[in-house]
Amino acid sequence: MDRAKIYKNVKDINEEEFVLPGTPLCAGCGGLLALRLAYKVLGQKVVILNAAGCFTLLSTYPYTPFRSSWLYTAMACGPAGAQGIRDALDILIEKGSIPKEENLKVVVLTGDGSAYDIGLQSTSGAIHRNLDFYYICYDNEAFGNTGFQMASSSPYGSRTGTTQPSDAYPMATEQQKKDLFEIWRAHKPPYMATVSPAHPVDLSAKFKKASEYKGPKLFITLAPCPTGWGYGASRSNRIAKLAVECGIWPLKEAIEGKLKHTYIPKFKPVEEYLSLQGRYDHLFKPVRNDFTIKKIQKGIDRYWAPFLKLTSCKR
Ligand code: SF4
Repeated sequence: MDRAKIYKNVKDINEEEFVLPGTPLCAGCGGLLALRLAYKVLGQKVVILNAAGCFTLLSTYPYTPFRSSWLYTAMACGPAGAQGIRDALDILIEKGSIPKEENLKVVVLTGDGSAYDIGLQSTSGAIHRNLDFYYICYDNEAFGNTGFQMASSSPYGSRTGTTQPSDAYPMATEQQKKDLFEIWRAHKPPYMATVSPAHPVDLSAKFKKASEYKGPKLFITLAPCPTGWGYGASRSNRIAKLAVECGIWPLKEAIEGKLKHTYIPKFKPVEEYLSLQGRYDHLFKPVRNDFTIKKIQKGIDRYWAPFLKLTSCKR
């Protein structure tokens, strides 16, 4: 039986909370909502290895919002820390020092700065060693806690702390976002997925399905970020939904490298998503930058074209 099928609507989501209210993160943080939802599936028996980032502020001694364990590592070495914890737990269980029931799921929690750039080699090594762990990247598309500088996760056309629009670079960020999902997929881990806090049923089903696999289980969640993206905190859910519906944030999974989209968007014009965020203001004022907006739209169309042909879905 596919146990993931128990998540058919929001009523199937666990009401119990494992991330408690009162964290010091920004109001409206989309990544925190995704983490809260993930915890509802993972449960309390987890140990989080947090690679330094915005979420490092979540648990600062003696305060924590978590009902589970938490450990910090440097940005570069979350998965290496996870290897140490996994090995220690395995040895303690084998020696009978702790009962099997006290086993913990080992979870790396990292921002995109670490996932796409600084910690990539550590992640690649852990996948190659088939380490039994979860890896959750909350992707706010820049280095969020040090001034929102550009990272290789920053999308073409977005403004960051270090890529401002100018006469020479009217699009602000001229590089294309790195495709981390495909880098991971080349390693063929047992399970990997993209998720969104605005699709809680899809997110929950994927975490549940991942629990059936031993080895690396990788998740990238879009993390709408009022502080860095420049919008009011109450709009996070709307922005997360638009990201999926315009096709810029595809919801997908890959099992042993085999790719499947879990949701076919309505393909709203990307402009609807861009125009709500201050980081894209320069594309609309003082004069509209049609070239850049069209280039972003074309990138989305190019991504989806082969999949829509396969599934005979029409735009
Ligand atoms: S900067 Fe953005 S990602 Fe970081 S805690 Fe604030 S809202 Fe969340």
